[in-house]
Amino acid sequence: MSTRYEDFISGLKKRNPHQTEFHQAVEEFASSVFPIYEANKGYCKEQILERLTEPDRIISFRVSWEDDEGNFRANRAWRVQFNKCLGPYKGGLRFHPDVNESVLKFLGFEQIFKNALTGLPMGGAKGGSNFNPKGKSDREVMRFCQSLMTELHRYIGEDTDVPAGDIGVGTREISYLFGHYIRMENRWVGVLTGKGASCGGSAVRKEATGWGCMYFCEHMLNQHGEALGGQRVAISGAGNVALYAAHKAMEKGAKVITMSDSDGYVHIPEGLTEEQWHNLVKLKEEDDGRISEFAENETGVTFHEGKPWGVSCEIAMPCATQNELDESAAETLINNGVVAVCEGANMPCTAKAVERFRHNGILFGPGKAANAGGVAVSGFEQSQNAIRVSWSREEVDERLQSLMKDIHNRCVEAGSREGQKIVDYADGANIAAFQKVATAMHAYGVV
Ligand code: NDP
Repeated sequence: MSTRYEDFISGLKKRNPHQTEFHQAVEEFASSVFPIYEANKGYCKEQILERLTEPDRIISFRVSWEDDEGNFRANRAWRVQFNKCLGPYKGGLRFHPDVNESVLKFLGFEQIFKNALTGLPMGGAKGGSNFNPKGKSDREVMRFCQSLMTELHRYIGEDTDVPAGDIGVGTREISYLFGHYIRMENRWVGVLTGKGASCGGSAVRKEATGWGCMYFCEHMLNQHGEALGGQRVAISGAGNVALYAAHKAMEKGAKVITMSDSDGYVHIPEGLTEEQWHNLVKLKEEDDGRISEFAENETGVTFHEGKPWGVSCEIAMPCATQNELDESAAETLINNGVVAVCEGANMPCTAKAVERFRHNGILFGPGKAANAGGVAVSGFEQSQNAIRVSWSREEVDERLQSLMKDIHNRCVEAGSREGQKIVDYADGANIAAFQKVATAMHAYGVV
């Protein structure tokens, strides 16, 4: 890479000390787009990349709430409004003890490009809190959500910023947040997405990220003469993304051989059955259970500590959290014959792991393309709310499938190189998204 690139990265690190996840996301992106950036003197003069890596604003605030024992509690929350060139800010809220500014900046940065790839008018943002919803009662979660929204409502709006869910923020949390927003504002507007069906939510939103990821993975395989049916799929996570990715894989005739949570993973050599999948959804979505309990209750399922990447498979789909698949896990997967790796989570593969896949001819679907189905259906939810209609499940799924195909094609167009058999989807996603955002930034002038 050039001196200009080295200067750009060292400047970024100096301005954002200790924000390792944010550095990682920017380096991954900039290494793809820098040749195009440098070749365009206008972009360099206008400091497009420097401006693009500086959020429009970061709002940080205290959330005070009272637990069931009457103790006063306080957490920190943020909203990172990163870039609104393409539309109102859009991106999820995450509730997890590991949440900090660096994590939210990396997620907000990725969100700009993911949203650009959907072709929908959405800017990039992310938010959340270091609040841990695990083990809290419904009333505690409600009080926390209401207190958070008391502050957040000043900064969001249907044409300004439209948050959604993420890790630790599902339909329950979105409902509490939304209920408090409409009460304070005395207006019913689609200011949050991921709402329940009875509160103005879209059909297929819950399934969208996992299903979309599997649609993307199938396109990647087909593009390279492979099929999804009959393949063994190792999935990590047992949350929203993982569960619905698993179900779509099963529907398409693939074998889901692992699922996980933060305690460990389950191995199902014969593949998850329809009945087992329903039992797992109940365990995770209704009973707040652990994956180890799933192994205790089912035949042909064993529980193991650690991550699932030692299990031999053709397709690996990390759907839990960032940096959950490192270089040594990548080596193991490659040695065991993995064909494709498709990111359901945001940045689940470390930079070194991605490098291993790309250099070994493994199909690699980056999260900003592969998991964009969730935000896409959130965009559909905004449209339905704005025009006061509800589309059917079939209609939303049809739109989702067509949008994932378009994203795949944009990646192929920007990521195909003469003489290379394998499409570089990481480069393709970064370049296609950058061209769209940079064109808008250039058109707006100095803003
Ligand atoms: P959920 O909270 O529904 O599920 C997260 C899953 O990952 C749980 O099984 C959880 O296990 C596991 N997990 C979380 N943190 C860790 C960790 N540090 N180590 C091991 N396992 C962990 O979240 P989602 O399914 O919604 O999100 C998963 C990923 O997908 C995230 O990266 C998110 O940003 C991304 N994503 C989500 C979208 C959506 O629509 N929901 C859209 C696009 C991307 P445990 O219960 O033990 O914590």
